Amino acid sequence: MARFLPLILLALIPAAIVAALAGAAVTGRSLALPQFGRGYVLRVELPVSDAGVPLPEIAGQGSGADEDLPLVVIDAGHGGHDPGASSAGLQEKDLVLRLARALRDRLIEQGDVRVALTRDEDRYLLHAERYEIARRLGADLFVSIHADSAGEATEVEGASIYTLSESASSEAAARYAERENRSDRINGQEISGHSDAVNTILVELSQRRTQAESAEFASLIQREGEGTIRFHPQPRRSAALKVLRAPDVPSVLYESGFITNSEEAQRLASPEGRARFAEVMARAIRIYFVRQREDLLEQPPVTIEPASDADTGEG
Ligand code: ZN
Repeated sequence: MARFLPLILLALIPAAIVAALAGAAVTGRSLALPQFGRGYVLRVELPVSDAGVPLPEIAGQGSGADEDLPLVVIDAGHGGHDPGASSAGLQEKDLVLRLARALRDRLIEQGDVRVALTRDEDRYLLHAERYEIARRLGADLFVSIHADSAGEATEVEGASIYTLSESASSEAAARYAERENRSDRINGQEISGHSDAVNTILVELSQRRTQAESAEFASLIQREGEGTIRFHPQPRRSAALKVLRAPDVPSVLYESGFITNSEEAQRLASPEGRARFAEVMARAIRIYFVRQREDLLEQPPVTIEPASDADTGEG
């Protein structure tokens, strides 16, 4: 039975999309059709948890017009009772908060981007709270900043860039789909009545796109950092990291270096090191957003006009 299951799921995809589109026609709303290629996207409105964490301020939006600017949420790892890695009196939670602030300041200085920090003080947040902040703010990009520890291996150094591993990504999709069932909406349309399997597929489609965008951003960090940032010999990694599990916000975790390597720790803690990091990361973020905008311009979404009467998709 297990062997046939994937085929059955594949067969259900068109049915689910048709149902979603038919729903749009019935309710008379125009709806962006999914397209294949780079612009291919099926946005899934996933339930956002009201975890109750107060939303942080967004920097870089003075006037109403600024609200259209892309929003990046920067997450300084750890905090409060969780110091993260520590070595020689330096704690990861402090180091990464200073990196996060430097990045925010650099981005705001350059303009055209909105920025929010998940925490701007020494405060602990759960992983889910961090990415839920990004989702509740409608963020376009999420960057979690960390510093690594290699224990006794004090010679190990270099930055790494993590994205969510594929297995963790589908597992997260299944979990979201389960929650999705309770709110029963996709592209703003009711999807109640679909099975868990169909909902899982719809969330997976959204997540696949998110994963591709995350990977693209990770490549940009590596490319822009070349020659400026000391990377680990294998700088690109994927892992089942909880903080990267937002299914609809491209997310990357940046390990800025090894706090257990005293030279690297000092470099990262110095104003020059922070500035170098902020410059590279800000450049990667800006290029990423420019590319996103170009994609949108290249491939205007096909829309279907509201149906004059509900003769489609019924029955
Ligand atoms: Zn960490």
